[in-house]
Amino acid sequence: MGMGGLFFQVRGAFAEELVLTPEQTLGPYYPDRMPLDRDNDLLILNGNITPAVGTVSWISGRILSRAGSPVRGALVEIWQADENGAYIHSASPVRNRDTNFQGYGRFLTGSGGAYLFRTVKPGLYPGRTRHVHFAVTAPGQPRFVTQLYIEGEAFNGTDGVLRGITNAAQRASVVVPWNAVDGSRIGELAARFDVVLGVTPAETAEAERPTIVSMSGIVSAATEIPGVVPGGCITIYGAGLAAGTRNWTAADAADNQLPRTLDGVSVQIGGKAAPVLYISPKQVNVQAPPDLEAGNAAVTVNNASGTSDAVNTSVLALAPGFFQIAEEYVAAVRLDGSRIGPAASAAPGETIVLYGTGFGPTIPAAQTGQLTAEALPLAAAVTVRVDGIVAAVSFAGLASPGLYQIHITVPDLRDGDHAITAEVGGVRMQKMALLRTRAGSPGV
Ligand code: FE
Repeated sequence: MGMGGLFFQVRGAFAEELVLTPEQTLGPYYPDRMPLDRDNDLLILNGNITPAVGTVSWISGRILSRAGSPVRGALVEIWQADENGAYIHSASPVRNRDTNFQGYGRFLTGSGGAYLFRTVKPGLYPGRTRHVHFAVTAPGQPRFVTQLYIEGEAFNGTDGVLRGITNAAQRASVVVPWNAVDGSRIGELAARFDVVLGVTPAETAEAERPTIVSMSGIVSAATEIPGVVPGGCITIYGAGLAAGTRNWTAADAADNQLPRTLDGVSVQIGGKAAPVLYISPKQVNVQAPPDLEAGNAAVTVNNASGTSDAVNTSVLALAPGFFQIAEEYVAAVRLDGSRIGPAASAAPGETIVLYGTGFGPTIPAAQTGQLTAEALPLAAAVTVRVDGIVAAVSFAGLASPGLYQIHITVPDLRDGDHAITAEVGGVRMQKMALLRTRAGSPGV
């Protein structure tokens, strides 16, 4: 487990100790025309192979409540000037915009409250020091707007917005080091920035009946982006959803069918029973029935205490996402089943298996909750890109209800972290993950 995972486990230890992130002006250059591509990789625009110009910079951190608890389901938006100092805005003070730079990105936090962006070091434009604009919208809260700065920048001392933060500790909290990434041959930088909101997330009292969090409470189990894809694995957040916590086991699966009820907990989506994969008081994972119709679907959770109010969700044809392990690394294994992650790099040239969901229909069609001996191949073509380089896909299909596997050959890349994304049937992943590679690892 990485440091981040360890950190999450001790989060209660620093309760009441956090400095609230100061609110700062939205500024005049929030995009007045949104890019079509709004994912968390600002370096690569759509399927472009030409990346933006500039110093590649990773910005990551967590969205926290004042007591230090991670805020799940927060929409994090960033926008910034490109290398030249130009914004995606018709009134940008600098005009020679890098058209390969996305300029704006968004990320929806998961249960750890973490976010991640890949971008370039922001350029200078008249009147300001280098900065990145942030807007964070936590569930049920107004949009919180702030800015992030780079430690050691010459113009920090004279920047009116930065100097306008009167509280010294708060001012210091938005100026962070952008450190060189170890071993990066292209001089990448990494910055950590936690946003501490002055909110106390209402810990919902255990309801008599189960309750589904209405706003963004029904999401892809891989990306935490709201909506369901037929046949995909989804997470439902709420309160009082189940009395205990467990995964389904072989003992629950009769006739190679996943259970429709696990310890008395069942879920209906669009009037159909959804196979139950995992239950806990605040989170239930299910497979969305593969035969859901497009449009909207009502979701209810039922247990011994009753049935929740119905919450509507969008049924999306495709919404691919990779499952992730700690720190946004893609969930992946070697063909021998050994795990790949930040401590176990993949080697260029080797075949690895990526796990995801939301990749849509298979041929033959998957039956609801059916466990099959052989993976069912995907109906639509899949493209996987690692740092924009297309990786050869040798197989893509549904391995078990809601769980897709994609076998790729790792492209020839420098050692280090890379952005990995996929596209299926022309629909791009709305959230990149990380893949760490190292030539010759592990025992190749
Ligand atoms: Fe600005």
